[in-house]
Amino acid sequence: MLGKIINNFFLSRNERILKNLNEIVVKINMLEKDLLQLTDYELKKKTDEFKLRLKYGDTLDSLLPEAFSVVREASKRVFGMRHFDVQILGGIILHKQSIAEMRTGEGKTLTATLPAYLNALLGDGVHIVTMNDYLANRDANKNRVLFEFLGLSVGVNVSGISQEDKKKAYLADITYGTNHEYGFDYLRDNMVFCNKQKVQRKLHFALVDEVDSILIDEARTPLVISGPIENSDFLYQKINSLVPYLIPKNKKNYTETDKIGDFYIDYKQRQVHLTEIGLIKLERLLVKHNFLSKSESLYLSKNIFFIHHVLLALKAHYIFLKNIDYLVQNNKIIIVDEHTGRIMSGRRWSDGLHQAVEAKEKVLIHNDNQTLASITLQNYFRLYSKLSGMTGTASTEACEFNSIYNLDTVIIPTNKPMIRNDMSDLIYLSEFDKINAIISDIQDCVKRGQPVLVGTVSIEKSEKISKILKKINISHNVLNAKLHSKEAIIISRAGEPKAVTIATNMAGRGTDIVLGGIKLETRKKQCIVNRKSVFQYSWNKKNHAVIKSGGLHIIGTERHDSRRIDNQLRGRSGRQGDPGSSRFYLSLDDTLIRLFASDNIISFIKTIGMKKGQSIEHPWLNSAIERAQKKVENQNFDIRKQLLEYDNVINEQREVVYRERNKLINISNIHDHILKILKDRINFCIKQYISGNTVNQDSFRSLEKELKNNFYFIKSINKFLEHDTTLYDNVDKLIDLIVTTIQFSYSKNTSLVSKKCSNMIEKSVMLQILDIFWVEHLNSVDFLRQSIHLRGYAQQDPQQEYKRESFFMFQSMLESIKNNVIKSLVNIFYVDFEQKKNVYMNIIDRKDYNEFHLLIMKSIKIT
Ligand code: ADP
Ligand code: MG
Repeated sequence: MLGKIINNFFLSRNERILKNLNEIVVKINMLEKDLLQLTDYELKKKTDEFKLRLKYGDTLDSLLPEAFSVVREASKRVFGMRHFDVQILGGIILHKQSIAEMRTGEGKTLTATLPAYLNALLGDGVHIVTMNDYLANRDANKNRVLFEFLGLSVGVNVSGISQEDKKKAYLADITYGTNHEYGFDYLRDNMVFCNKQKVQRKLHFALVDEVDSILIDEARTPLVISGPIENSDFLYQKINSLVPYLIPKNKKNYTETDKIGDFYIDYKQRQVHLTEIGLIKLERLLVKHNFLSKSESLYLSKNIFFIHHVLLALKAHYIFLKNIDYLVQNNKIIIVDEHTGRIMSGRRWSDGLHQAVEAKEKVLIHNDNQTLASITLQNYFRLYSKLSGMTGTASTEACEFNSIYNLDTVIIPTNKPMIRNDMSDLIYLSEFDKINAIISDIQDCVKRGQPVLVGTVSIEKSEKISKILKKINISHNVLNAKLHSKEAIIISRAGEPKAVTIATNMAGRGTDIVLGGIKLETRKKQCIVNRKSVFQYSWNKKNHAVIKSGGLHIIGTERHDSRRIDNQLRGRSGRQGDPGSSRFYLSLDDTLIRLFASDNIISFIKTIGMKKGQSIEHPWLNSAIERAQKKVENQNFDIRKQLLEYDNVINEQREVVYRERNKLINISNIHDHILKILKDRINFCIKQYISGNTVNQDSFRSLEKELKNNFYFIKSINKFLEHDTTLYDNVDKLIDLIVTTIQFSYSKNTSLVSKKCSNMIEKSVMLQILDIFWVEHLNSVDFLRQSIHLRGYAQQDPQQEYKRESFFMFQSMLESIKNNVIKSLVNIFYVDFEQKKNVYMNIIDRKDYNEFHLLIMKSIKIT
């Protein structure tokens, strides 16, 4: 009921927004006549005019109608495509920092050219974000012609290009690239030692294509840059061998009072939890296998990581399943993406899970990595001053977009009315019955000459259907883990008569399925040359045949966890007013129904007395399934929200550290900054020996020793006092004197090399120590996050505890950084300085900065 009210409210709001924007569309349409008169050159000149007017007080909003009409006119001339009015609407929504929901095939690639052009006029760069390298290249190449016609440059930022090319891509007015690449560049830019090594400019405007996939589906895995640390295979193997000793509780609803079993598996959250008796047993096992000594407690903070490792091993055995979550190929574990069914070669699960699975499968265990830098996609995209996105399916997640990214969602009407026939779900008793029904549906399509796209939730399911089709001689294509570009070619032909295409849910997303099929390679020619070619003729024939057969038919072999993914699949059919149909097949064996559907569904089916091979369809069932999906969606939202809440803590700290890093990189005189830290450290040191306002001579000896050790102070404090007796009653003055003496001596030493050289040494030490401690901090906080739920046993709120503790850890990290910077600098500038001085100068003269940093790194003293 409440859901309905909210839904109605959403729709009427949507209408209101569109009505208001329509006025702008009318205005843009009126400008068209005048632009027709302009020569190409005059049209191009408009860009300079707009840029100038922006300088003299015009705003992007005030320029929007003219700028959009110029882009439309240019598109007519270079592509022969005139932006539809609904595309203009979409363009305005994107400019206004919202999400435009535009169905598949509505032409989002062309829509994006409007806000991209307008916002690029500011000269700060516009980032168009795509799901993969193939799409980035494709869209950049497509639209480059248009943007260059208007005098703007286009860059492509994909993986594997050189530093120079990357820089160039970022300097372009409009850059196409993947979310991963942008995010990793940001992290890498914050690991460099000078501005020249950076590639990004400031983050101005990101326009995210397939925004739900990027900001929601991928938001659960943060971007991580990591480096190897020492061998740990032994530990993983040993812990793996403990798994058989631990007994699972397989009950669905576990309660704390349930005493049997060592751990319980939460399939919904994909987590494993040890029970109290499980923990006791584990402690005993660890003692038996010599991991712990007899008297040692498992709960000591240095031992908690055993629990972490055991949980990983249990997860690897009980939750991560071979051929569903991962494949074993060439002695390697290859991840299969849970949403797309795609093989994620080269990706590894983090936090040791990958190693745990490697131990389970007895393949080579790759060394543990430590995180060198990381960020969640949520926090990366929040760095942009302006963000917007487009997709075919956003409205089901409107609430999440709003609460996390502050983005409104607006549904843009289709250009032509949608006539696809979405049929009710058919439910069968068993998986077997269901698959039989699916196969006969496919056979019917083939008989009619109708193309059909079969969507599955996993590679395994795709293979299963493919096997049966092979047996009955129906030729078909299976899409799962091929190259994105190859995938696009297959998908683009999925609309040919009789084509049968089996694909995991989102394979080939971003590629249009044209009825009659279209060869990707010839598309360009077809757009520009508007003549009737042979190709055109044969395509027309195929197109008509497919339309007559009913258009593209979609078969969903299972309902996905999220309605959005189902809508994506449905959306492949019925583009631009095409005919089409869709149907989902379900069975009581489906995971969604087993785990999440209410018992009502099952009892409903039992009461009506369904028999083998029979199916039912009923509107009530449709809404019951939808309720189950909403349950899972909410749960997944909670997981993402929790990840974000945890990440927010580290995010604030990351901002502090990166800001400090940038300050260091840009500072021209770091010496004064170092002197300040020096003063701070000396004060801290002296305060431990002198209390109150009068001087106590007893502790001078030890104080002098401490000052000598830490700051190379080699004077006698008694001499100071003899010289000036008023110092006896004025501690502050005495401290000042000591500080100045040390600072003076330090400065004198640094001046024995050139100013440039000493500056470089100080900078290099600061940056490297900052990085060392930050990396260490990242890993300890990560570890804290994973073990913090154990605090739940002590009735504490884990999240609060996490916040509190990581704050303290951060504070102490900042202190350690200062201490270590001074210690290392003193070490460099005093010990062996005479000998090394010339080496430093020599490297600086040769401008071999990498060697320089390496040399400095060797002299850094960490305590
Ligand atoms: P989407 O990303 O919304 O699914 P695409 O951007 O891939 O859609 O576009 C689908 C097809 O529609 C492309 O072949 C594109 O060239 C074509 N198209 C887009 N806009 C127009 C237009 N205004 N006029 C003619 N064809 C268009
Ligand atoms: Mg697209």
